[in-house]
Amino acid sequence: MASTMEWINNMVRVKAERAAALVAAGKVTATVLPGLYVVTGRQHYCVDLDRQNCTCPDHQRGNRYCKHLMAATLYHAQRRAA
Ligand SMILES: [Zn+2]
Repeated sequence: MASTMEWINNMVRVKAERAAALVAAGKVTATVLPGLYVVTGRQHYCVDLDRQNCTCPDHQRGNRYCKHLMAATLYHAQRRAA
């Protein structure tokens, strides 16, 4: 039986993989505003890194770390590192 911690770690890992896939597929687009990104999933979602906000239903339901927010964070980090 998986512990709660294992369950959380697994959930985070799955989302991180989905986020990385979005970045790799070129689904993250920077806007002219710093910290503001558009992530394309089923629809276009607007991610605000400063406010840690995303316009997707998942985030609106209270999931603070949706895959779009993770994807934009990853994309942002990669751009800074480049
Ligand atoms: Zn989202």
